[in-house]
Amino acid sequence: MARAIRTLLKGGTLVTMNGDRHVGVGDLLMEGDRIVSVGAPTRKKVDHTIDCSGRLVIPGLIQPHTHLCQTLFRGFADDLVLLDWLGQRIWPFEGGHSHASLYTSALLGAAELLRSGTTAILDMATVRHTDAVFEAVKKLGLRATIGKAMMDQGHGLPAGLRETTDASIEESLRLADKWHGTENGRLRYAFMPRFVLSCTEQLLVRSVEEARKRGLILHTHASENSEEIMQVRDRCGADNVAYLHGLGMSGEDTVFAHCVWVTAAEQRILADTKTSVAHCPSSNLKLASGFARVPDLLEMGINVGLAADGAPCNNNLDAFTEMRLAALIHKPRFGPTAMPAKTVFEMATLNGARALGLSDEIGALEEGKRADVVVVDHRQLHAAPHAEPYSVLVYSARASDVEHVWVDGVQRVRKGKVLGVNVKRLVNQANAHAQAIVAPLL
Ligand SMILES: [Zn+2]
Repeated sequence: MARAIRTLLKGGTLVTMNGDRHVGVGDLLMEGDRIVSVGAPTRKKVDHTIDCSGRLVIPGLIQPHTHLCQTLFRGFADDLVLLDWLGQRIWPFEGGHSHASLYTSALLGAAELLRSGTTAILDMATVRHTDAVFEAVKKLGLRATIGKAMMDQGHGLPAGLRETTDASIEESLRLADKWHGTENGRLRYAFMPRFVLSCTEQLLVRSVEEARKRGLILHTHASENSEEIMQVRDRCGADNVAYLHGLGMSGEDTVFAHCVWVTAAEQRILADTKTSVAHCPSSNLKLASGFARVPDLLEMGINVGLAADGAPCNNNLDAFTEMRLAALIHKPRFGPTAMPAKTVFEMATLNGARALGLSDEIGALEEGKRADVVVVDHRQLHAAPHAEPYSVLVYSARASDVEHVWVDGVQRVRKGKVLGVNVKRLVNQANAHAQAIVAPLL
């Protein structure tokens, strides 16, 4: 058998995110899908050598809350509050998706994510055609844990989003059987009830049961908006996170997006159960949802990752924007020492890996881990001079500084170009599909 391909990244500044958070100039060797040496020069024969001198070599960035299904709707749902944004725009739009439009939406989003240095995501699809999201992600080689949005309740939903409890569970199981663990383990399935207001109690309980039986992650939106939590209180007689916890939806295998409006008691639940939180600063600002108390959550030992959410509530998917915002927006309330750059970079790497249950595999440049690696060329006007790397990465670097990206040791971005996709054609297809869905509804 031929030996695996070896790629040597030579002479870059390695921001390892290992246990010691070692940062230093050195070489990194990938062999097959693994990182096999970090820091030291190698005597092994290599197939490709990439000069990384003057650049930063970082672990691929990880976003534990995205919606590739919504990328087509970027710019068509601006300046609305959450429940109107959903009811007036996003749900009707998602209901208009065909397999082909969803594939294009996911391809566009996956290409944007790779181009900006994100190598792994936790992605909530829409109710139908979720195979299309898997197919697009498979084509571009992104690492993704994906689930169909489950919603068996709600007024005024378009036909494309209505489903029964049984149908929702059955379709989730079919997708899990088909996709979980495929593509060298890069693709995985997770159970994703959309949020409490879209789900019957039966659907939530059964999701927990089925996910636990199979060792799959549970993911939902929780306590994003003040009106949402009031409606949950009216309907369920409990606070949102407390209600989900009461149904068994909490724990190391559970990721809640947002957690803007959580009580002190609910913060305690998150900490005690080791439930992860996905902080989405752009989305929380744009939908006027509020400010999650992230410094408090981190202080309590809660695992908080960083994510862009969907394109229509951001409107970009790049993790650099989210890192910068996460570092900035909490300082007026918590003081200038809150959310230092190193902490924020940990959120975008290590904490994301933990949320996905993949701490042993990704999130750091360490021997034996998956070769999900990004080279950032920060020799740019906006990033000079070169202060310590965390400061550069969080406060001044931009998504466009991403030069090369590997996932599982396979190069997916070279010199700023996403491999395997014709960007001009993709943008044209995205425009055509978006117009076809959006125009009759606006
Ligand atoms: Zn979301």
